[in-house]
Amino acid sequence: MVTLGIESTAHTASVGIVDREAKVLSLASDMYRPAKGGIHPREAANHHVEVLPGLVGQALDASGTAPGDLDAIAFAQGPGLGPCLRAGATVARMLSLAWDRPLVPVNHCVAHVEIARVLSGFDDPMLLYASGGNTQVIAYARGRYRVLGETLDIGIGNFLDKLWIELGGTFPGGPALEIEARSGSELLDLPYSVHGMDVAFSGILTAALALHARGARRADLAYSIEVTTYAMLTEITERALAHRRRATVVLGGGVACNERLRNMVRAMVEERGGSMFAPPRSLCVDNGAMIAWTGHLARTAGRSVPVEGSAVEPRQRTDLVPTPWRAN
Ligand code: AMP
Ligand code: MG
Repeated sequence: MVTLGIESTAHTASVGIVDREAKVLSLASDMYRPAKGGIHPREAANHHVEVLPGLVGQALDASGTAPGDLDAIAFAQGPGLGPCLRAGATVARMLSLAWDRPLVPVNHCVAHVEIARVLSGFDDPMLLYASGGNTQVIAYARGRYRVLGETLDIGIGNFLDKLWIELGGTFPGGPALEIEARSGSELLDLPYSVHGMDVAFSGILTAALALHARGARRADLAYSIEVTTYAMLTEITERALAHRRRATVVLGGGVACNERLRNMVRAMVEERGGSMFAPPRSLCVDNGAMIAWTGHLARTAGRSVPVEGSAVEPRQRTDLVPTPWRAN
C-alpha cells in the first residue's frame, strides 16, 4: 500500500507517491514561474488548479498504482500562501471523497524534516531549512518540532531571487547566482547579520545593491553574498547543535541545493565529529513525496481529518503541530 501527497504551498504544484518504506515510487511536479517580479499568489493558485489533476494522473501512472492501493491522501495544510494551499487542499478533498481514502493534513516544514530524516537514517537530526519563503533551524524536543532560529525578515531564497532580479537576472535567482559566484574572487564587505539564533537579510540586500550601484563586479557580489549569508546559516546551525547537544544535520529547501552551502555546513558538522546529509535535489525543493511520507507517518499514528476539519492554515506554526509518530 502507498500514500499520495499533494504539495502546493508556494510556487510548486507537486504530487508524490511513496510506499511504506519511504521509497519514492513517483514524483510529478510543475513550477509556476512569474513572467516578471516575484510570486503572485492568485496567479500561482490558478496555475496549481490547472496542473494538479494532470499531475495526479501522471504520478499514479508512473508509480504503477491504482486509487485502490492508496492508504491515504495527504496534503500540505500550511504554512504557505492561502490561495495556493487551498488549490492543493481542494484536490486532496475531492480525491479523498471520490476514492473513499483517509485525508491527512501535513505541515510543510515538518515534511522537509521527515523526508530528510528517513533518507539520512539519522534518528534525531537538526534540520537547516533554507527555502524561498522559509529559513529556519528546526529540532525535535519534548513532543514537537521546535524552531530554534529563523529569519527575522525574508526567506533566504526570496532574498537571493530579489537580488538577482535587481542585478538584471530572472527568477529563480539562487541557481543563477550560484553559477555567477564561481567566477567571483574578491570578498566584498557586506553586513553579517546574525542576531542570537536568528538571521536577517534585508540590510544585506540594501548594502549589496549599493555596492552594485558603485560598480562592484556582479561575480564578486554573487560570491560575497553566498559566502556571507551561508556563513550566517552555518553559524546558527552550529550554535543550535551545541545548545541541543546534537551531532547530525540534514538539509532541506531549495537553497539546500547549493553546493557551497552544503560544503560549508558539512565542514562545520564534521569538524564537530558529526555527520551531515543532504537529500537529492528533487527532494530538497518543495515536493509531493515528502508530504506523502509525512502523511504516511501521521496516518499510521492515527491522524486523519474529515473534509469539514481540513481547512488550510497559511500561518501554521511548526511547533504547534502534533507529531504523534515521534512519540514511540
Ligand atoms: P523552495 O522554496 O524550497 O521551493 O526553493 C526555491 C528557492 O530555492 C528559490 O528561491 C531558488 O532561488 C532557491 N534555489 C534553488 N536552487 C538553488 C541553488 N542552487 N542555490 C541557491 N538557491 C537555490
Ligand atoms: Mg519548502
